[in-house]
Amino acid sequence: MSVMDENTTVVIVGSGVAGLALGNFLLRSGIDCVILERRSREYVEQRQRAGAIDSSAVRMFREWGLADRVLGGVPFEPVLNFRIDGQTRPFRYVTDDHGDGRFCPQQVLVHNLIDVFVSDGGDLRFEAEDLTLEDITGSRPRVRYRDSAGATRTISCDFIAGCDGDHGVSRTSIPDGELTHLSHEYGYAWLTVLAEAPANHQSMMAIHDRGFAGQFARGPQASRFYLQCPLDTSAEEWTDDRIWEEIETRFGEPVAVKGPISSKTLVPLRSVVYEPMSHGRLYLLGDAAHIVPPMSAKGMNLALHDAGVFAAAVLKHVKEQDAGLLEAYSSTCLKHVWNYQAFAAWFTDLMHDAGDISYHGEFRRRLARAEFERLYDSQTANRLFGEFLTGLN
Ligand SMILES: Cc1cc2nc3c(=O)[nH]c(=O)nc-3n(C[C@H](O)[C@H](O)[C@H](O)COP(=O)(O)OP(=O)(O)OC[C@H]3O[C@@H](n4cnc5c(N)ncnc54)[C@H](O)[C@@H]3O)c2cc1C
Repeated sequence: MSVMDENTTVVIVGSGVAGLALGNFLLRSGIDCVILERRSREYVEQRQRAGAIDSSAVRMFREWGLADRVLGGVPFEPVLNFRIDGQTRPFRYVTDDHGDGRFCPQQVLVHNLIDVFVSDGGDLRFEAEDLTLEDITGSRPRVRYRDSAGATRTISCDFIAGCDGDHGVSRTSIPDGELTHLSHEYGYAWLTVLAEAPANHQSMMAIHDRGFAGQFARGPQASRFYLQCPLDTSAEEWTDDRIWEEIETRFGEPVAVKGPISSKTLVPLRSVVYEPMSHGRLYLLGDAAHIVPPMSAKGMNLALHDAGVFAAAVLKHVKEQDAGLLEAYSSTCLKHVWNYQAFAAWFTDLMHDAGDISYHGEFRRRLARAEFERLYDSQTANRLFGEFLTGLN
């Protein structure tokens, strides 16, 4: 069965944080849009990932009038808890952000964004399969997909927002040779572990001879753990006992409650940017256009930033017939992306090089530890770090 042909202003592909934030901004501005998501609502609302929303993203939600309805979680304390060779060294950074950032699990933000979008009358379609983009350089591109009842549907639009992450179809719909792919591999991976174990600390990052380890609360009863490991390991090699032993060794303290481990995934650390972030009437947002290593906690925040820039550009085009912001979309976002990539690469190298010397050696460890001490000793370094971390720089 085929249903031809709906019309809208923006088709948004993907209901992650980028797609949902964009949908809400457009809906509030009276601009027609449809969000198409491959997965079910249940699936996207339970997908656990990031946890830190920086100050600039909180401010953006406030400016769009959505902060009270979509943001949960607890405010950031301007403190990072480091454990270095088993000793706790809290690091208090100074910024002018007045504590705007939040620890808010990504699935809570996604759940709230869906709730607000749907209850305000937004058009969000789950289980949209076999999605293809057509005529993206023409004046009315189309998105074709199969709906949950098996019917083929086609939506014509002014713009397509590709918010479908690193493995979606939007970026791969752009012909070869049109985008430049720039990437950096860090040479190690993180084993990311989700456990039903209350966090010893809201957040803690350990530097140790055996490698980096991180722990972040994911609600009152669950924690996300990260363990640096070689690229050639596999998640199956990490038994639950081995994981707990390694966490206790790297943190140098016992884990109070070793609850069931519900997921173990291996994530190679890498930075990726695709340039430009648009082709014809297709615009790429979030992980579809760039990946930052998770050490920096910037992936979700970059996705939200793209959504704010793109929404403002569409609004200007629709309400004032001014395409200037749309034409500048890619360069505006890329400036911000490269700034965050620089911070993410620096912080990732620092935290890993200061621990396990089998990757970059003892000389590099001494350099990393000297840089680390500078954060404590220099007000300038402290403030710069705090501004990056909270998204003010
Ligand atoms: C384990 C892990 C930990 C992380 N920790 C942090 C952190 O602490 N801080 C941080 O800021 N970031 C973190 N990130 C990164 C952050 O989660 C991502 O940067 C963020 O999710 C990007 O949002 P997005 O909307 O661009 O993409 P996504 O969240 O990936 O959303 C893309 C959506 O598109 C849908 N989709 C895909 N293909 C199609 C298709 N063909 N048709 C329709 N829909 C499709 C997907 O189902 C998905 O819902 C982490 C990531 C991982 C994996």
